[in-house]
Amino acid sequence: MSDISLFENALKQFRKAAEVMELDPCIAEVLSHPKRELTVHFPVRMDDGSIKVFTGHRVQHNIARGPAKGGIRYHPSVTLDEVKALAFWMTWKCAVVGIPYGGGKGGVAVDPAELSPAELERLSRRFFSEIQVIIGEDKDIPAPDVNTNPQVMAWYMDTYSMNVGHSVLGIVTGKPLDVGGSAGRTEATGRGVRVVTEEAINYNGLDPKNCTVAVQGFGNVGSYAAKLIKEEVGSKIIAVSDVSGAIYNPDGLDIDDVVAYRDQNNGLIKGYPKATAMTNEELLTMDVDILIPAALENAITMNNVEDVKAKIIVEGANGPVTPEAEEVLLKKGVFIVPDFLANAGGVTVSYFEWVQGLQWYFWDIEDVRKALHKIMRDSFYSVINTMRKYDTDMRTAAYIVAIDRVATATKLRGIYP
Ligand code: GLU
Repeated sequence: MSDISLFENALKQFRKAAEVMELDPCIAEVLSHPKRELTVHFPVRMDDGSIKVFTGHRVQHNIARGPAKGGIRYHPSVTLDEVKALAFWMTWKCAVVGIPYGGGKGGVAVDPAELSPAELERLSRRFFSEIQVIIGEDKDIPAPDVNTNPQVMAWYMDTYSMNVGHSVLGIVTGKPLDVGGSAGRTEATGRGVRVVTEEAINYNGLDPKNCTVAVQGFGNVGSYAAKLIKEEVGSKIIAVSDVSGAIYNPDGLDIDDVVAYRDQNNGLIKGYPKATAMTNEELLTMDVDILIPAALENAITMNNVEDVKAKIIVEGANGPVTPEAEEVLLKKGVFIVPDFLANAGGVTVSYFEWVQGLQWYFWDIEDVRKALHKIMRDSFYSVINTMRKYDTDMRTAAYIVAIDRVATATKLRGIYP
């Protein structure tokens, strides 16, 4: 996994789209580089009194359409290369759904499961202070990502607010409801996946009630996607997985029951009694109609792509399919809803949260859901129309929609000075 440069893979996708849309090479060159990369090494005092130094990054890829926006992840495998790719994808994610942001991303190389709550808080506060030089409510607005959550966002918001001397709600999104969060933010990425999955089922002429679904990853994205696809779309979720392995039930899993089990079982689904155990690798190659990789990048590679049997892949995670594996899937006729469209629901509700925070005026959940559904559905069909117009695949079409918007903003603003 680590021998594949994620940023290089992301650029391959970008170049393919740039060629199809005949993008001005000068603009392509500008957009092929992040605007700003910050790496910080910072000390954290451990509970036993010792000091450990951690490394983290914040990358701003582009700000042509608005402030940089994107999450911060905590994971042992975080590298600058990965954060650059994720920031790059945030630019296209925000553009494809038409919200006024550029792309940014952050990460700390750490396994948060090895930290006590107090150590996690000190690490979070110190990291946020370190990157504060480039963060701001009109400059760059972080959010949750892999292994970060509303509590971490509350610490970030408080840290920034203490440093500047007053509460700044717009500095970060994904906050708890009681400190300026938005209704519906936690479920938002999963809900967005649910909307595009339903549209992909319809577009491919399938009956949602007869569709089987496997979901890789049972964190914030995968668990809500599974729940909402079962409850609101009516498809059968027959397998889900997390780091501890996969579980399978051909009659369909009761997702609320799996969530309740996970929450009592150290956050893991392993040992869930009403299902058969399988490996993650088996889940990815199951005979299902729809596969939703919602864990980390590079889940489907040249090593397993030949065995993938799903008709539709909806990318809940960022970068779960490598460019080479995607070519194989496209030849097989698999319909792929690309990551930066499929998982844009989170940042869309982050945008609603930011707007609410700036105005100190909060919406109810029905308004959030309605606005989210409209944006996801409209974006899905603007990509479908572009796909038909250029006779290309869905990812390339999504890039074309997004690149066109960013390129137009770049041209209108001009190159300074
Ligand atoms: N981390 C999420 C993503 O990759 C959310 C970003 C945000 O809300 O700013 O889309």
